[in-house]
Amino acid sequence: MKKVAVKKKLSQKEIEELSQEILKLKKEKNAFILAHYYQEIEIQDLADLVGDSLGLSEAARDVKDADMIVFAGVYFMAETAKILNPKMKVLIPNPNAGCPLANQCNPTLISEVKAKHPDAPVVVYVNTTAVTKAAADATCTSSNAAIVVKNLHAKKVIFGPDNNLGSYVQQQIPDIEIIPVPEDGHCIVHRRFDVETIQEYKKQYPEAVIMAHPECNVEVQAIADVVGSTSAMIKFGNETTAKTIIVATEKGLVDRLTQDNPEKKFILAKDTAICKNMKRITLENLRDALLFEQHEVIIPKDIQDKAEQAIDRMFELT
Ligand code: 13P
Ligand code: SF4
Repeated sequence: MKKVAVKKKLSQKEIEELSQEILKLKKEKNAFILAHYYQEIEIQDLADLVGDSLGLSEAARDVKDADMIVFAGVYFMAETAKILNPKMKVLIPNPNAGCPLANQCNPTLISEVKAKHPDAPVVVYVNTTAVTKAAADATCTSSNAAIVVKNLHAKKVIFGPDNNLGSYVQQQIPDIEIIPVPEDGHCIVHRRFDVETIQEYKKQYPEAVIMAHPECNVEVQAIADVVGSTSAMIKFGNETTAKTIIVATEKGLVDRLTQDNPEKKFILAKDTAICKNMKRITLENLRDALLFEQHEVIIPKDIQDKAEQAIDRMFELT
């Protein structure tokens, strides 16, 4: 039988020692650490900046004085950082931290749909590989998808790969036809949330408000009081006067909100909503990336230039 590698749980002492080692190396190497909110809280705590996809892209573009960026997130995010700051050395502690959603779209699928709708511009979520971005007219994130689509002033827009985000955009801009690419692109983590479990929590905590990421199924979005991107949920969670909040997104966000708002109760609406790929970044491989300056992100120049145009278009449109 095939042996499955089990991730060793670190003791508090080991976490503290590794964290000190990372902070020391970060200084020595003049590195800037970016982390997504879906990272383990001890990794978020070491970062120079914690953000969602949009915030991290903007931050990566503006890093000037560091000698390297170390990206604690999934591969497409580190690639985006490299595209936006091409002269900077960008390292990812574990190059196997992929995103199954990003792998659901590619240039061939885009050309097939484009052949049927030649006049429709192509907008792809930043959760795509660099080659897919290079085949698009503009990128978007969950924070700005509707604005990007609207400001293209087209009758129809080819949009991928997340179909739930596509439906969310369609709901906000009913006059523009959204053509999905692929038909059923989805995030395996956000698809785990279901209406029944959320309603069970709501029975237990009737006063609770429900917030959901637009990558959740449309039925889940429909029962949420707030549907928003990661940064929108962080803002809402920090500012709401509600004492109990049921959260339909990845666990890292619940950990962050809980740490920053100890007087409020944040309930993860499905206990399996953990992105294993995000969690492939560990304190050990973060330390090793800094120590050995390993796992540099390299993108071929032609792809880099085209992908950069698509990301720049997003910034121009928003
Ligand atoms: P945002 O950071 O844009 O909300 O994206 C969520 C996500 O699933 C990232 O992988
Ligand atoms: Fe990809 Fe979903 Fe994980 Fe985000 S949460 S990195 S979209 S698999």
